[in-house]
Amino acid sequence: MTYPDSLSEFHLAAQVIDNIDAGVVMLDSKHRVMIWNTFMQAYSGISVEQIMGQNLFEAVPDLPEEWLRNKIQSTFKLGTRSFSSWEDRPFIFNFTNFSPVSGGMTSMFQNMTLTPLKALDGEYRHICLTVTDVSDIAKSKIHLRESNAQLTHLSITDRLTQLYNRGHWESCLSAEFDQCRHYQTVSSLVMFDIDHFKKVNDTFGHIAGDAVIKSISSLLKKAKRQSDIAGRYGGEEFGVILPGTSSELAQYFTERLRKRVEESLVKMDIRDIRVTISLGLCEWASWMTSYEQWLECADSALYQSKRAGRNQCTLYQSTVEHCSDMSGVS
Ligand code: GH3
Ligand code: MG
Ligand code: MG
Repeated sequence: MTYPDSLSEFHLAAQVIDNIDAGVVMLDSKHRVMIWNTFMQAYSGISVEQIMGQNLFEAVPDLPEEWLRNKIQSTFKLGTRSFSSWEDRPFIFNFTNFSPVSGGMTSMFQNMTLTPLKALDGEYRHICLTVTDVSDIAKSKIHLRESNAQLTHLSITDRLTQLYNRGHWESCLSAEFDQCRHYQTVSSLVMFDIDHFKKVNDTFGHIAGDAVIKSISSLLKKAKRQSDIAGRYGGEEFGVILPGTSSELAQYFTERLRKRVEESLVKMDIRDIRVTISLGLCEWASWMTSYEQWLECADSALYQSKRAGRNQCTLYQSTVEHCSDMSGVS
């Protein structure tokens, strides 16, 4: 038996479409399925006999119908190809596959193209939808993003306290200084240091000392607002930036923190430990030429607190003065 060349070519082309490692679907202008290749059958569980001539959205109800209808409509209207990436929409068809990367059954990440098909009369009445499985690429990209986020976190975080480390905190301070200078906004800086900490280490040991540092860090995290930026500046010295806060208002924070530290006990096996902190507070001023100068001012106020007997906060002014009486503030 002989066949016309055109039929023989069509037969071969149909086999190519059927065996391609991507989903191929052809729809008419009423979204009826005209081609549904082996890939689509294998992953959807819907055979070609079941779906041929059926409306795609009725046969596959979990499709993002409104979005896909609009996309198909604009592809017809413009007569150009359109594309959907897994990064914008992880999948169109809810397929699962066995991924050797994650070693189990997972959702298949997909890229999709819609190609309008021109008939011999030049009209677009059919569309070709292709779906490619990009799960391996997507998963390694997601894994890379997560690893980068983790690395960034590690590089800016102090291990003992989980506060920002000195390097990152200083770069936040520098950015805040620039912001204040540029927009002439109000901002306050607090530096504080644990009192007689050497004695804690000498009496209870380094591990107990570390527990005290951790406990003060957690009191600090609870006392500050979310927008305040706290960091471990040195061994037992901390810095807090309070953006948008005047020194007058910042004193409510310093006093709250000072009192909570004074009242808290760090529970240890041998004996509970009680410590106090000394603080220095300095509001940004337009005469400051660098963030380092701002830091020096807050530091000098802190050391004034130490000299004046510790367990207190000093407000930096051109001539250093003590914070106003904050009794009653908790
Ligand atoms: P002052 O009231 O004047 O601040 O007295 P101080 O004894 O606290 O003196 P200083 O602030 O200079 O003490 C720093 C001590 O903190 C020295 C160091 O042994 C200890 N230290 C620094 N980093 C750590 C740490 O990560 N863990 C522990 N356990 N101790 C630390
Ligand atoms: Mg100290
Ligand atoms: Mg110190």
